[in-house]
Amino acid sequence: MPEMLQKIIAYDEIVIHRHKNPDPDALGSQLGLRDILRYNFPDKTISAVGYDEPSLAFIGQMDHLPDETFKGKLVIVTDTANTARIDDDRYQTGDFLIKIDHHPNDDPYGDLRDVDPTASSASEMIANFAFEHGLQLSDTAARFLYAGIVGDTGRFLYPATTAKTLYTAAKLAAYHFDRTGLMREMDSFDIKIARLQGYVYENLEISSEGVARVVISQAIMKAYQISDSETSAIVSAPGKIKAIQSWAIFVEQADGHYRVRMRSKQAPINEIAKLHAGGGHPLASGANSYSTEENNDIFQQLRNNLVSFKK
Ligand code: AMP
Repeated sequence: MPEMLQKIIAYDEIVIHRHKNPDPDALGSQLGLRDILRYNFPDKTISAVGYDEPSLAFIGQMDHLPDETFKGKLVIVTDTANTARIDDDRYQTGDFLIKIDHHPNDDPYGDLRDVDPTASSASEMIANFAFEHGLQLSDTAARFLYAGIVGDTGRFLYPATTAKTLYTAAKLAAYHFDRTGLMREMDSFDIKIARLQGYVYENLEISSEGVARVVISQAIMKAYQISDSETSAIVSAPGKIKAIQSWAIFVEQADGHYRVRMRSKQAPINEIAKLHAGGGHPLASGANSYSTEENNDIFQQLRNNLVSFKK
């Protein structure tokens, strides 16, 4: 039996965390695992903690634990590359810490790790953990995990989508949940997001190499009534344009610095993100910039990166 399952069996109380600013894979892997453990171990107390992101409330809800510490509990963190991004600092107070993730293992935290950067999503990993070890899935767990896989693969578009991803998704699709309703929900946005997308397309600067950038200032966010987390809905938009290979969206924060959301179709960009207080996947990274000069540096680095990639 794998050590992870041994630990799960050994603890009566388990708390599951995921990263801050959750996306569908963060929530899907966290809540999928919670549901699988509740279903297979009904005598245990299994909780999921973190901020309830309103725009993703249709996926599921957190538990709210009043406990000051998680002493005596097993803590599992899904989909989170580094400790700074773990939502809810109480993860540090548990008895034993397990990391389950599909990002590059740059910060190998935890007492035990299951890290597979070849997996499309943490949700794919959790689904296969259950399938491979004879754990039963409820229809609800299948829905969570399917949402996570769809979220992180851009509905099976990105190259991290493997035959195994599709096979896993097919097995999940055999459960009973409203798949079309879920997909519709994930594919829909408010009219204000559509208008912001219009702003992005109107204001994209595209270099001769195929690198694009746009700045979303605090003033624009105010004008379009958009929160920082809602900018996730427009991050993939530049990728629809044929001429664009890599892109960066600079989202100005209240303190004046920029959250940089970087994406690429083929050339890896995570090393550039690491140079600017960030990191992430080869083709989907995030960083922080502290001036317009640094924004320009990032844009130039993306251009140079694409030139050397094409050689
Ligand atoms: P985002 O543009 O925020 O959706 O981020 C894309 C990916 O980059 C996420 O899945 C994270 O893995 C990673 N990421 C974002 N921000 C950071 C950061 N500050 N440090 C490390 N990784 C990050």
